[in-house]
Amino acid sequence: MAEPEGQSDGTVAASAIPSLDRVLRSAPFAPLLAIHGHTHVAQQARAHLAQLRARARDGRLLAQALEPAQLGRAVAQALQAAARPALRPVFNLTGTVLHTNLGRAPLPEVAVQAVADVMRSPANLEFDLDTGARGERDARVAGLVCALTGAEAALVVNNNAAAVLLMLNTLAKERATLVSRGELVEIGGSFRIPDIMAGAGTRLHEVGTTNRTHARDYARAIGPDTALLMKVHCSNYAIQGFVHSVDVAALAALAQAHQLPLAVDLGSGTLLPLSRWGLPDEPTVAQVLAQGADLVSFSGDKLLGGPQAGIVAGRADLIAALQRNPLKRALRAGKLTLAALEAVLRLYAEPEHLAQRLTSLRWLTRPQADIQAQAQRILPALRATLKGRAHIAAVAMASQIGSGALPVSVLPSFGVRLHVPGAGGAALLRLQAALRALPRPVLGRVAEDALWLDLRCLEPEDETGFIHQWATLDP
Ligand SMILES: *Cc1c(COP(=O)(O)O)cnc(C)c1O
Repeated sequence: MAEPEGQSDGTVAASAIPSLDRVLRSAPFAPLLAIHGHTHVAQQARAHLAQLRARARDGRLLAQALEPAQLGRAVAQALQAAARPALRPVFNLTGTVLHTNLGRAPLPEVAVQAVADVMRSPANLEFDLDTGARGERDARVAGLVCALTGAEAALVVNNNAAAVLLMLNTLAKERATLVSRGELVEIGGSFRIPDIMAGAGTRLHEVGTTNRTHARDYARAIGPDTALLMKVHCSNYAIQGFVHSVDVAALAALAQAHQLPLAVDLGSGTLLPLSRWGLPDEPTVAQVLAQGADLVSFSGDKLLGGPQAGIVAGRADLIAALQRNPLKRALRAGKLTLAALEAVLRLYAEPEHLAQRLTSLRWLTRPQADIQAQAQRILPALRATLKGRAHIAAVAMASQIGSGALPVSVLPSFGVRLHVPGAGGAALLRLQAALRALPRPVLGRVAEDALWLDLRCLEPEDETGFIHQWATLDP
């Protein structure tokens, strides 16, 4: 290559940039072409040369950026960055355990293995190995759900929003569904009960007021057009004070008297009483069915601790009607989901071991003293990397369950608080950005001008990796 005509400050003009062809024929590109092939290398090299041209226009292109070795390094880096998955594991140190933006429940290893097994080969998804006849894809999971909840029947769809849609569309299409005004909730991520009702083709008949709804409000509202009574768990908010709502038992009695079904959207839905593990209690699916609900729907990836899924459990005739709805075909779960869900539900058969084996429950039940010991264990290494540029201290904090489960209860936890002195919020934003740029991004929570890293969800076996990665931080 001819020496580019340079300026005294070391910058060169765009005319000095070699052609794509010439770049690809230079020695440093031979190994890249051998590994990645012409198409991808040419694409990345073309993009890099375009960047260099933009730099030249701004008078910022240095001659050394055009050296073949330097061009090779830059394109190799771009190829590496392009190969990194956009969806990847992070450290969830936000303090919200079942974080919807971070994929909710992490799967236990047995479920991961079950998914991997059915991914690699054909599986008896809709095939009955006993009879040799065609089978129902939900059957295995439904059997486990029935055993755990006392339901007559159950089915699985893609998520709980789909479960609600399927119940409403099957049982109340072109007719009215009664719901209390206090339960017309928005769950987040644009799931709003009134919108789902419209989408399902049922008419929303609002009953009572925002803070108080009585059985007589429902009774008065029931008319010839009424097809369904629905109760929605107020997942992510709580109202206190002058409030009243109708419990499932009373609503079930009313529904039965009018020969109408009662559907309960339980949201998070737990299969076992959480007080067993010292957590605040939520109604279990079994309890709600025992109180007379005809159908109950709940998520697979909230308190249940499994994959994203929606489960409907309840009366066999109604579940059969849901199965026959053509929408079920559009909303059904895939074999990966069903494999993971089956593995997780099997863990519930041995509740004595559940808090050890089910990852989400293990995180939710970690004793504060454990987390505190971990914070003190890793603090010196974290502090050493920051070299005084940020104040770091081990402090008590409060985690949340998340995913709308038990919105007002908190779990005593521990973690580290990072405070960057001076420079207002800019230095803190830079530290957060540096943590997000790590190979496995670290996500915390900002409050009171500090970054809080709640260690509840840092598995002790990930601790060494966490510290190693932290040492590469450029604060
Ligand atoms: C979370 C939730 C939903 C939506 O469930 P997904 O599994 O996220 O689709 C619906 N209803 C209630 C009450 C919820 O809490």
